[in-house]
Amino acid sequence: MVTPAVKRLAILGCTGSIGQSTLAVVDAHPDRLRVVSLAAGDNAERLAEQAARYRPSLVAMATDDGLARFRAATSWTPGTLASGAEGLIAVATHPDVDIVICASAGTAGLEAVLAAIEAGKTIALANKEVLVMAGALVMAAARRRGVPVLPVDSEHNAIHQCLHGRTAGEVRRLILTASGGPFRTMPAAQLAQVGPADALRHPTWQMGRKITIDSATLMNKGLEVIEAYWLFGVGPDQIDVVVHPQSIVHSMVEFVDGSIIAQLGVTDMRLPIQYACSYPDRWPAALPPLDLTRAGRLDFEPPDLTRFRCLALAFRALRAGGTLPVVLNAANEVAVECFLGQSLAFQDIPRVIAATMDAHVVEPVESLAQVRRVDTWGREHALSVIRGVELSIEVPE
Ligand code: MG
Repeated sequence: MVTPAVKRLAILGCTGSIGQSTLAVVDAHPDRLRVVSLAAGDNAERLAEQAARYRPSLVAMATDDGLARFRAATSWTPGTLASGAEGLIAVATHPDVDIVICASAGTAGLEAVLAAIEAGKTIALANKEVLVMAGALVMAAARRRGVPVLPVDSEHNAIHQCLHGRTAGEVRRLILTASGGPFRTMPAAQLAQVGPADALRHPTWQMGRKITIDSATLMNKGLEVIEAYWLFGVGPDQIDVVVHPQSIVHSMVEFVDGSIIAQLGVTDMRLPIQYACSYPDRWPAALPPLDLTRAGRLDFEPPDLTRFRCLALAFRALRAGGTLPVVLNAANEVAVECFLGQSLAFQDIPRVIAATMDAHVVEPVESLAQVRRVDTWGREHALSVIRGVELSIEVPE
């Protein structure tokens, strides 16, 4: 028997939900996967446990304070410790790394992903912001350097599986499935009353707080539409969204002959993470098999763009292109944060985003510095819009 080559991993965002699932995939395939470097945001205690178990050559945390807490908590110290943006880049570009699992939250991973591409690493992308904000820069760099960008997001991973061996000319459209979130059937009047606790109750997936709110507003699907545009090189009109409450069909591709190929599976992120690691091969997985006779039925319905305006806003940003998706993402992050802090109503999330987009003069994306500048502007503008909303509530008649 031929011993399989070991693939060596860097994990950006190792203590989050995707990071932990990635380590579970490593546990299931100790002869095929090895952890070389780990980057965490703030969770020093969990990173300390992971370092003791996987013995990486390098660990990084977002801040020096985090690193100090890691040192205090760890029973095993790696050869190298780093922090901040340089730490993230060091983890992503470590010379022994083959694949970078990019699962860090928010926009912190942008520079690290670009540095990893320049260093020739395969990118397994779980972070949406990287492509939503800088898709033009990231994909151009990957093409120039001949580096694959493999999707970990379950929908894009599904499409990647469906497209296997097919050419762009054979594709009519991509069909992204959406669970519809916890408010799929809720009337618009009731949506005005929902709070963070309601929105955090996702029917099919266990995820972080920000992405769970994005699933409730359908912004998550909107960001995924933009992500699909960059990953698969199709036009905005070749991407459709279908609500599929069971989350069993993870997405589909319709080909020019009318055939639709779908990928089905259990709702467990270990499956797409493993495929990104095993690609182009398939490995056995230690997951419960999908029993379609127990699933019973598969429902599909069109998304309601009047109750879930965020999805329509994302299509608008994609069609306009340039820096508008950066503004969409920045305003959304601020609005979601305020919703979680109970200073913004659920239905005001799309209002804040639309007002911020309306105020933006779109530019073609040319540099990361420009993306950062527009991102900052979008956040500041969204905050000023939100302060205006609060004022209008608080000022007496
Ligand atoms: Mg997804």
